[in-house]
Amino acid sequence: MLKRVAVIITLTWGIFSGPVCAEQRFFKGNTHAHSFWSDGNDFPEMVIDYYHRNGYDFATLSDHNVLPRNYRWMSVQEIKARQVGPGPGAIEKCEARFGPDWIEWKQVAGKRGVILKPLQAYRDQFEAPGEFLIIEAQEISDRSTTGHVHINALNLEHLIPFQKEPVGSTVQVMRRLLRQVAAQEEAIGRPILTHLNHPNYRWSVTAEELAAVVEERFFEVYNGHPDINHLGDESRPGDEMIWDIANTLRLAKLDAAPLYGVATDDSHRYHGGDVSPGRGWIQVEAEGLTPAALIGAMRHGRFYASTGVELSRLSYDSATRVLEFEIVADGEARFRSELIGTRRNYAQADAPASSVIGEVFNLSSDRSVRFEVPSDALYARVTITSTASHPNPSYDYQTKQAWLQPVGWR
Ligand SMILES: [Zn+2]
Ligand SMILES: [Zn+2]
Repeated sequence: MLKRVAVIITLTWGIFSGPVCAEQRFFKGNTHAHSFWSDGNDFPEMVIDYYHRNGYDFATLSDHNVLPRNYRWMSVQEIKARQVGPGPGAIEKCEARFGPDWIEWKQVAGKRGVILKPLQAYRDQFEAPGEFLIIEAQEISDRSTTGHVHINALNLEHLIPFQKEPVGSTVQVMRRLLRQVAAQEEAIGRPILTHLNHPNYRWSVTAEELAAVVEERFFEVYNGHPDINHLGDESRPGDEMIWDIANTLRLAKLDAAPLYGVATDDSHRYHGGDVSPGRGWIQVEAEGLTPAALIGAMRHGRFYASTGVELSRLSYDSATRVLEFEIVADGEARFRSELIGTRRNYAQADAPASSVIGEVFNLSSDRSVRFEVPSDALYARVTITSTASHPNPSYDYQTKQAWLQPVGWR
């Protein structure tokens, strides 16, 4: 189990409108994972078991356009076809974990198969108040005429409808899906959190499109799938630069709030091979381990995204524009913290506009960091990069990182 750190909020978050001094702590969770219910290669209860065993406080099942509500048959042939890597297969591992009688077998049309269980059949084995929470989700997987639009919707009650054929632009598809989520949120009376996934997957969502859909407040600044072009290429920005371009456009031109960044696994494979879990997660500073408390805290920006860098303390004082945080030691690792943002006059600067979007305002190599957000900044955010290698990288030479949310924009 990873170490848990209790924190007391003593400073006022400029982006936090409620009362302060409540006792809070960080809850670690992943909001993007796949199972046999769509294109993953393990039983959903084994996916949850991974997160439960590995020090997470909450986990999400977010299969493509399906909620794990009923029972579903799956052939052994299909299960074996998805197996990647040596060693025992999904069935053997599931029987070893839950016992020989756990899996229900069924013959359909002469084929041997198993019955996938709904979340209700196993959630009690994992969930405990304040200790572990499972959040049901859908990866709404839709298409525009120019690319893929994938949005994770967490804590929903009903499946969000999607078009089987591409209809409309990326901006139109995003807006349509988010309207449907908002309508459901209103109808069921509980919060549903959405995040736009992997914008660079097949170069589907540009920074300008992400900026334009101001209804969306979250996106994946890191996703552990190796095929999502996290770093961009020679002519197209990576996920961090997309974040800075979109936030600059929102604040300078659209009078809208910036995006908050999440890191996720998007895990599909659990027996070796790539696309595996344990790559990216969020740490949410919430008053309790419930979907409403976590989503409420995230909507106020009280979380950070991580691929291995951990904080013991994080605060922002909107009056002094001072951001402070403390990085947890990690063996011999050294850390570089960069305060990054865009100035109000970025478009008038002598340099080409693109070179002053996402400017590095300040740097620190300490574990205890205090940054002042420049008075002429539209916003500022922090990327922390460790010298320690990521133990399960999604791209070459990946090291552990953390991303703090934009501040100083209000
Ligand atoms: Zn996706
Ligand atoms: Zn996915």
